[in-house]
Amino acid sequence: MSARVATTFPCPRCGTGIRRVKKPGRLEITCPRCRFLIFDYPRPCVGTIVIKGDDLLVLRRRHRPKRGFLDYPGGFLEANESLEGGARRELREETGLRLGAMDFLGIYWDQYFLKGFGAFPTLNFYWIGRWRAGEPQAADDAASAEWRPLATLGRRGDRLAWKHMRDALRDARAWASRPAQRVTGSRSIDQRPFRSRRTK
Ligand SMILES: [Zn+2]
Repeated sequence: MSARVATTFPCPRCGTGIRRVKKPGRLEITCPRCRFLIFDYPRPCVGTIVIKGDDLLVLRRRHRPKRGFLDYPGGFLEANESLEGGARRELREETGLRLGAMDFLGIYWDQYFLKGFGAFPTLNFYWIGRWRAGEPQAADDAASAEWRPLATLGRRGDRLAWKHMRDALRDARAWASRPAQRVTGSRSIDQRPFRSRRTK
């Protein structure tokens, strides 16, 4: 099975247009002219779901791809950053908010698409926590920050930017509906096998 979208991007070495066709299990792309080998591994992303009462925080994307769609605060992990540290950094950069203890929510596969580059797989690590103080200020990549009902997000024609958002939403609803609605602290996802940069 080939993906519906095949696009080209310039070879980093010789500039030849390389046709990107996504196929299951294919992790290598070879330039047809200079044979430069590109490894097409998934890229890690980190995000946070912020709960305030019965609402959760969403951002409306300002830029391509998915401009105007709803998204959770998050983005690509930076090199040498801890996963949770990256999630907190993205939340701070995009909304100005800081949370206390967060729970690890889950890991979700998805796909990101860049015009001229094509689709590549992403692995999305999510945390969840309760809002403490401050109004979110949309910044950076977001046009607006909005509190939306946890129970109804995704209905009434809400355009969610990424497929994995519905899975994370399902898990967030389960998390928020637990009898003890308290953060228990992250499970051990961030084992820090490397020296991580301080992000707080
Ligand atoms: Zn080349």
